[in-house]
Amino acid sequence: MIEITQKNKKIIKYLTLVISLIYTFSLKFDAGLSGGLTRYQIFFSALAAVLIIILLAGDLYFFIRDDEKNRKSFDRSLFTGGWLFLLITLFFNIKSLQVLEPVFHIYLSLAFTFLNIYVAFFYFILSVAYNYLAYVYIPWERAYFNFLSFTTFAVLFSAMGYLLRKERSEKKEYKSKLKDIKEGAKRIFKEEEDAILALKTEKREESFSHSYKIFEERIFDILERIKNFLDPYTVCFVKIKDDGKYYRIVDAISENEYLRYNEDISLEQGVVGWIYKYAKELNLKDYKGSKDSLNYYDRYVPVKSFLGVPVYLNETVFGVLFIDALESDIFTRETENIIRISATQIEDAIQNARLFQQVNQQSKEFKALYDASKVMLSYVKLSETLEGFLELLTPFVNPSYAFISFKDEEGFQKVVIQKGFPGDISGLTISEESLISWSINHKTVLDIKDYGDKKRKVPLINEDVKIKNIDRLIVIPILIEREDRQGALVLCFKDNGPTEYEKNLIEILTNQLTISIAKALYVEKIDLMATTDGLTGVYNHRYFQERFTELLEKGKRYNETFSLILLDIDFFKKVNDNYGHPVGDLVLKKVSQTVKNGARKIDIVARYGGEEFAVILPQISKDNAYKFAERLRKEISELTIVFEGGRLNVTVSMGIATFPEDGNEKAELIEKADNCLYEAKRSGRNRVVKAGDIK
Ligand code: GH3
Ligand code: MG
Ligand code: MG
Repeated sequence: MIEITQKNKKIIKYLTLVISLIYTFSLKFDAGLSGGLTRYQIFFSALAAVLIIILLAGDLYFFIRDDEKNRKSFDRSLFTGGWLFLLITLFFNIKSLQVLEPVFHIYLSLAFTFLNIYVAFFYFILSVAYNYLAYVYIPWERAYFNFLSFTTFAVLFSAMGYLLRKERSEKKEYKSKLKDIKEGAKRIFKEEEDAILALKTEKREESFSHSYKIFEERIFDILERIKNFLDPYTVCFVKIKDDGKYYRIVDAISENEYLRYNEDISLEQGVVGWIYKYAKELNLKDYKGSKDSLNYYDRYVPVKSFLGVPVYLNETVFGVLFIDALESDIFTRETENIIRISATQIEDAIQNARLFQQVNQQSKEFKALYDASKVMLSYVKLSETLEGFLELLTPFVNPSYAFISFKDEEGFQKVVIQKGFPGDISGLTISEESLISWSINHKTVLDIKDYGDKKRKVPLINEDVKIKNIDRLIVIPILIEREDRQGALVLCFKDNGPTEYEKNLIEILTNQLTISIAKALYVEKIDLMATTDGLTGVYNHRYFQERFTELLEKGKRYNETFSLILLDIDFFKKVNDNYGHPVGDLVLKKVSQTVKNGARKIDIVARYGGEEFAVILPQISKDNAYKFAERLRKEISELTIVFEGGRLNVTVSMGIATFPEDGNEKAELIEKADNCLYEAKRSGRNRVVKAGDIK
């Protein structure tokens, strides 16, 4: 068989259409002209034909594009078009219908193929009517011949249409199957990826409905056993709905087909309602029930015996298990026992399903929490931790806006990171009189469900920032007990926001965050300790060496200059000797602070040795370094250091070397600076000497 590819299909379609059009119109125009039509009639017939061709082509176009929606509306115009032109041509001259004959046939075949059966039938009637009218004008042989040839076309068209449609529906089915597989795969992988989403309330309900299915299977087993053993007319288990007004059939086995499955059935009257209301067994031996009392049936059933028992969950009636029969008084004491035992089996099944669901859910939650904390503990820096946390939380919580504020080193509570805000709020200071500060100070979670309703007197962040269009606001304080560094997680919702359960989880995760933050702060501290000098707070010797190497490499690569200053306090031994070591330490602190304050942010101030300091000045020429050093020298000499029992002044000497003019290597530059420092000491102290000045 020929394979129907997309291309072949199109070719066949167009070929059939073109051949049929050429054939029919050449024939009919010929007949029309020789048949003595007026020019007026020919004009209208031709116009009708052209318009109908346009309509057909349009329909075909949408069909090929697989644009079902537009094709449908186009079909409607095709249908209307057919009517319109029929009326127009009839109006002018019945004879002009000759030209339209093939058009009706093509309509007919198209309608059978692509449109619905009613449209097709309409054209069929039209065609028959035409053939009848045609007898008046053309000899029978001709009409007979035409009718045959066009009907053949119609059959051809229909066959092709059938093939196309079949192939298309198969393709659709295949597509939807493929989609199912893809979705399934996505779900499996997604679960791994977004484990935290397993904590969403919907997911819990999904998991519950899954366990409920297992429970239903178990119910069917129990009902089947009752059926085999007692052979009642109907055996059924119904569940009481949470509202206590209706019940629903969970499962049943019955000889009667009028059981009301999937319906809310009233507990107001009837035998099931009685059992629920009184929480008692009911054994009716010679019963004349009505449709209302046996309302689990859709119509009256002549039940004579009924036996039902309540099924409990946590001491309330959860459902009813019952059997009935058309004969009187056939449920014995033994039957009662069997039904009672079956009821306890159902109770066990419910308990098991609940337990299964709980364990299953708990293990999922545990895993999700474990994964979340694992992710959070993988961050090292504070900013990374906060950013990562918000990243982790937002798909789970879906807030409209969210941000985290945190107390910085200077003690200001500030917005550190945000998500979803239209403007940039990062870095904003949180006022002491804000909801955030209140939440932190009172160590209390704020959950305002009608945030948008009232005019708020207390601002969220500060007086200058208005946050509008929020329905719900949640502020969870982040408290790092040992560090005195607090913050808050702020979630803003334009909808109801998380469920109570989800909110609890967010709080748990936020607690987890405090551990991560504490860790990050600790790492920051260790880092600081590793790079700074304990006494003076400036960088230590090791860090100086590392940065020096880095700057040297960068300087070489980009041809960038930088200067190095070595600084030594004059007669420092005397300070120690005269005032004691602690005063010496104080002098070291004051001097290093003065240097640090005088330097730029990018300059590296380090303690080089005992009372020697080094300063690296990136991108600073020798002359500018000299100016800086002179200013510093003067400032230190004018600095009065006050201590318990007196005051003193110190002076410093400095040596300067500059890359690359004084050397290309570290050792060389340090040696040059050191030589200058020595020269400064030798020539009287309290002075600056730069490389190149000494011979
Ligand atoms: P010069 O003007 O030639 O530099 O004279 P100086 O007295 O400063 O001589 P030197 O550089 O040899 O003296 C360094 C002294 O600094 C020796 C040491 O007792 C003292 N020192 C080193 N580290 C510390 C410290 O951490 N605290 C205190 N109080 N003194 C220190
Ligand atoms: Mg000294
Ligand atoms: Mg020294």
